[in-house]
This record gives sequence, structure tokens and C-alpha cells, in this order.
Amino acid sequence: MLRLPQTVYDQLREHGEAAYPDECCGILLGTAAGEVKTVTRAVPASNASPHPHHHYEIAPIDLIHIERAATASGESILGFYHSHPDHPAHWSLTDLAEAHWIGCSYLITSVENGRASASHSFHLAGTREEDKHFQSEKIALMAAPELANAASR
Ligand SMILES: [Zn+2]
Repeated sequence: MLRLPQTVYDQLREHGEAAYPDECCGILLGTAAGEVKTVTRAVPASNASPHPHHHYEIAPIDLIHIERAATASGESILGFYHSHPDHPAHWSLTDLAEAHWIGCSYLITSVENGRASASHSFHLAGTREEDKHFQSEKIALMAAPELANAASR
């Protein structure tokens, strides 16, 4: 399960609308306890792909900077988000081939005619490249008060 503050959910969907007709991408930071990942924030990244209309790529240097900042604040990289302009919110074969963070979440938002529609999250399961696969994962939206409780625990 991916627990996501409503504000973060809105933010990453708006990012998808702003990047339209290109794909947006970014990184989900937070803390994990067993199967439950609790996102604290999303960090937008620029799409470094030469074909941003139907592909995304987070520049390695961006990823390194964001991971360092996350570690410094006690957070981990829980997953990644990107958008599918005028395509369903489901992973593509390219998404699977290029997903290497086993245990992380890959959240995809469909943006139709510039408006965010469905968002779905997929957990990258498996133990190594050869057997990795995506599993549908529930997104649980958290309101602000719940978030404050989670932070104080
Ligand atoms: Zn994709």
C-alpha cells in the first residue's frame, strides 16, 4: 500500500497537467514499514528523455542529489511517478524494462487532453532483474491531520 498525502497527490497530478503533452516525472520520498509506504513529499524532476512525449528519464545527477537530500532528512526513496499523456494509467513494457528499484512504487497518472484522470500505483516486486514484475498497489490518500499524526509517531 502506498499512503499518500492528498496535497502530494494533487501536486504530482498537477505536474502531469503542466508537462502535457510531454510526460512529467518525479520521485516519492518518505518512510516504509513492511508493506506500507508512507510518502511525505514528492520531488519533481525534469524529464531528460530525448523523446519526452512518450518516455521519461530522470537524469542520474538529479537522482543522486535528491537521494542525498532525502538521506539527510531521514527519508528514503519510496518510488517514482510519471504521467502518460493521452494513454491509460497503466505501466508499459518500457516502464517495466527501465524500472530497477525493486520494492519501490511506480505511480502513473493518465493525462487526457491536458487534464489528469486516473492515477494508479504499481509495486515493483521480485528479487532481481530476471524475475521483477509490477503488482497493482492500493493508493491510500491521507488528509492533513492524519499526516501530522504519522509525523509525530
Ligand atoms: Zn510510462
